[in-house]
Amino acid sequence: METPTSFKVDHLTLEPGIYLRDADHKRGVFTYDIRLVKPTLSEKKALSPRISHTIEHSFATYLRTISPIRDEVVYIGPMGCLTGFYLLTYINYNTDYIREIVINALEYIRSLDEVPGAKPSECGNYTLFDLPGAKGRLDEFIAILNKNKNQD
Ligand SMILES: [Zn+2]
Repeated sequence: METPTSFKVDHLTLEPGIYLRDADHKRGVFTYDIRLVKPTLSEKKALSPRISHTIEHSFATYLRTISPIRDEVVYIGPMGCLTGFYLLTYINYNTDYIREIVINALEYIRSLDEVPGAKPSECGNYTLFDLPGAKGRLDEFIAILNKNKNQD
């Protein structure tokens, strides 16, 4: 049985930040690891499912409809371990550029009064959100991304 690429990363030494995790040049799909929380920290430090879901909806809206890479986004979704997100694009971007876009996506969350796409007709679990909780951790995430700017 083959091991998925992401399982081969040593999560004991992985710092939060933006990483190009997989580059499929042949088919033109590039996978970025948007790690907002240091892996292997306690459940308390990881995103709650509500915060992760809130950021997922906000990221999807910002990255797919507002950001300059909106036409090149294949997918943006949460990691099951609740320490970050995966962004898949059709273009191989510099990680510093992706960092800038992700910081703008986090700043976008501050401007929201409600979670995008949170009506019962739009989402599989419309009660699973925490916008104030997500806003409360934005400074922490932005500081982490800026701090690891030259370490990726
Ligand atoms: Zn949803």
